[in-house]
Amino acid sequence: MLAMTCTSPKNVLKSVFGFPQFRPHQESIIEAALTGRDVFAALPTGGGKSLCYQLPAKIRGGLTLVISPLIALMKDQVDAALSMGVEAAGLHGAMTPDERHAVYQALEQKQVRLLYMAPERLMLDGTIERLKEWGCSAIAVDEAHCISEWGHEFRPEYRQLSRIKEWMPNIPVTAFTATATQRVQDDILEQLGLQNPMVIRAGFDRPEIHYRIESKRDPLLRITEFVKKRPHFSGIIYRSTRADVEKTAAYLQDRGIFALPYHAGLPDEVRQKNQEAFKTDQVNVMVATVAFGMGIDKPDIRYVVHGDLPKSLEAYYQETGRAGRDGDSAEALLLWNAGDLAKIRYHFQRLSDVQERERSEQSLRRMTQFAGSFCCRRQSLLAHFDETHPGECGNCDVCQGEVESVDATVDAQKYLSAIIRTGERYGAHYIVDVVRGTNSENVLQRGHQELPTFGVGADSSRRYWLALSDDLEARGHLYRDEERYKALVITNSGKEILFGQQEFRTMKRSKVSPSQTKRLSLSAQEEDLQPGDMALWEALKNKRTDLAKEAGKPPYMVFPDRTLRAFARLRPHTATELLSCPGVGEKKLATWGTEFLAVIRDFEEGTP
Ligand code: ADP
Ligand code: ZN
Repeated sequence: MLAMTCTSPKNVLKSVFGFPQFRPHQESIIEAALTGRDVFAALPTGGGKSLCYQLPAKIRGGLTLVISPLIALMKDQVDAALSMGVEAAGLHGAMTPDERHAVYQALEQKQVRLLYMAPERLMLDGTIERLKEWGCSAIAVDEAHCISEWGHEFRPEYRQLSRIKEWMPNIPVTAFTATATQRVQDDILEQLGLQNPMVIRAGFDRPEIHYRIESKRDPLLRITEFVKKRPHFSGIIYRSTRADVEKTAAYLQDRGIFALPYHAGLPDEVRQKNQEAFKTDQVNVMVATVAFGMGIDKPDIRYVVHGDLPKSLEAYYQETGRAGRDGDSAEALLLWNAGDLAKIRYHFQRLSDVQERERSEQSLRRMTQFAGSFCCRRQSLLAHFDETHPGECGNCDVCQGEVESVDATVDAQKYLSAIIRTGERYGAHYIVDVVRGTNSENVLQRGHQELPTFGVGADSSRRYWLALSDDLEARGHLYRDEERYKALVITNSGKEILFGQQEFRTMKRSKVSPSQTKRLSLSAQEEDLQPGDMALWEALKNKRTDLAKEAGKPPYMVFPDRTLRAFARLRPHTATELLSCPGVGEKKLATWGTEFLAVIRDFEEGTP
């Protein structure tokens, strides 16, 4: 077995994982874990949580048990660990008896350092005893927020983990989550009964993600345009309903973009197949409901588009956080309008628990405030998680001056006044008729052409007024009464605008400057490459695709993009030079080093 004795965490980081530096907090978590202390760590997605238990497992004797909620993820995690030379295995129900037998044997022979298991399995008779026999010396709980009812991914099976300290006293437990709220954190600490734990809460900023929010007009058109500008990159398009997922995927396909759908209504095999195709880069665009995400930890997703408003900021943060886990720049685009609110609320109405309904409504309100504001997106997002961002971020549409807020108080007053004067009995189209002075049959019949507001807005287009109406609704100044044929009703804050006690500003999108257009279409990935490196980078990627296919692994598991870019830029010629590139450890060097050296050599010699 491994005879790694003079192994400092820092050395193992390089020799096994191939990384020159720890990410923030990794080192202190690992050091604490190695002294046998309990640890709770809340790190953002992409913070590098897995390394925090994989690396100690490689150093310390015995077996580290990893509790992980999803079997689908487990296989990837085991594969990724193995590809780096960490002796990992998983035990779960989807294995054949033969496979399971092989794992048992390896465990008995103490050849496994890292064992992944779902919590259900831990509860099975005899599992705890066997773990002790196999020399279990540490436990890591991944996605620890699943233990908390306050989290948004509560899993009842996780609750049983509250007895873990009773079953295996004296075995240190490290718990990891990407959920930011204090309440969930407190709950995890209490449920797991961690003893004098070291508690780490990292900042939740994801500086690599660029945030942009737009009001939704022609979502399919906008999504298509966005995706077309980012060819060859992996991205997720979230839609809130299955029907919209199907529609969007079909629309993209019709326009020559290869996109696949993913939602809970598809047969298991199809879902699995589509997810696999996305993971292995056979398809770049996944159109999905929120059912897609937890089962995937693809690090090189470059954008996440929300075609509809998410239900809460937590969900928005989590879903956008799936982009850019590898630390390279990524984008988040949110499209929304007042119609989304009505749809979400319709679902809230069906919740039987009054408190839950109120909680959901509160979350939605905060989401709406965020989406409708004109402040730096990052600042307001982080503020929600009680974090402050020093100054404006410079990496969102507001900071980059793409969005301008304009005073629309007078127009809002005209519109609201038309609603009041017609008795809060009509929908947006009718109110727009009144404001624009359209002599329609309905207007004449009701005598509304006599109102003082009739025609006060004739100088603006119908489209403008409908958008304004939408904006007023989205910001909670009016709502549609679903029970009265969607009649528009003014809220208290709407009245304040009407009576001049509050101003109303709308968002105007200024023309994107040419330099920004360049930034958007030019992939962030290629920024650090010289034009002369591009062909080599393509050749390296092709080699990676081939090798990944042969090995039956996703390409990023062979080497991440960042590593291939370093190859293209630095052009290593020897094993030692390869090792100095980020992401190259000894195991990967041995497995794939010569293949990539050959690509570089051939390229330099001009043989394709
Ligand atoms: P999380 O589970 O916290 O979202 P992961 O453990 O999946 O994050 O890690 C995200 C990515 O970051 C992975 O591709 C991983 O290999 C990489 N990574 C982890 N630690 C480091 C490090 N110290 N330096 C560079 N890359 C790292
Ligand atoms: Zn900003």
